Amino acid sequence: MKLCYNQATTLENSNLVKDLEYCEKHGYDYIEIRTMDKLPEYLRDHSMEELQDYFQTHHIKPIALNALVYFNNREDEEQVLEEFKTMVGNASKLGAVYVVVVPLVTDQTLLKRDIKASAVKMLHQFAEIAEAQQIKVALEFVGHPECTINTFEQAYNIIETVDRESVGLVFDCFHFHAMNSDVEFLKKADGKKIFILHIDDTDDYPAGALRDEHRVWPGEGILDLEKLLQTVKDIGYKEDIVSVELFRPEYYKLPAEEVIRTAKETTLQSIANVIK
Ligand code: ZN
Repeated sequence: MKLCYNQATTLENSNLVKDLEYCEKHGYDYIEIRTMDKLPEYLRDHSMEELQDYFQTHHIKPIALNALVYFNNREDEEQVLEEFKTMVGNASKLGAVYVVVVPLVTDQTLLKRDIKASAVKMLHQFAEIAEAQQIKVALEFVGHPECTINTFEQAYNIIETVDRESVGLVFDCFHFHAMNSDVEFLKKADGKKIFILHIDDTDDYPAGALRDEHRVWPGEGILDLEKLLQTVKDIGYKEDIVSVELFRPEYYKLPAEEVIRTAKETTLQSIANVIK
């Protein structure tokens, strides 16, 4: 199992330079680079060429750019497409495989059919742009009630309708649990449609009350991570990469290197018994 680092885990106590240094030092294989804040911050004092050069000369590699928020049911579709094009261009330059897109979060109530219609349309347009550069699009459903796509079933139904090899899902263990996604449905899904797996754990709040800040170190919450990961592997998840992604305010108070080291140790322990 290869290990990936999602920069959300040190969102408030690090930057891209430090994340790369500590991830490389502690043996991570991949990183998901945040394009909403960490990449622009890096580019204030560095160039894209410098980052390309870093990846060419180190073990750690970029797996995804994370994320385009929010991609569906927007008035300004042209602007969304422009942002997506920029992300694909950067992914291609850096050698990243995926661009992650996150559904609209809103307090408006939208019908599921309108959400699906917009999401399917946007994903086809994204795929046209991404496929030209051999990049893939990963939709990440978010297990908060305000998110327009908030269960695995809803997200899977959308990408199944899109039905393109370049369009799949991010499977985030926290988001799967947070709005009671259906394990029986997951068992019947095609694991090849899962492009990225976010590993995390959570405090025990009810569905609908859970938010990202309730994430805890893998193995220290109530998720059965080994069972979830085994299920995902059994249905054909082939990537064999887990990406640790936490948003815990208490962890933002720790030194970044300690977070990156602990994230690795707890992740590996939490999935030690998953059949390779
Ligand atoms: Zn995630």
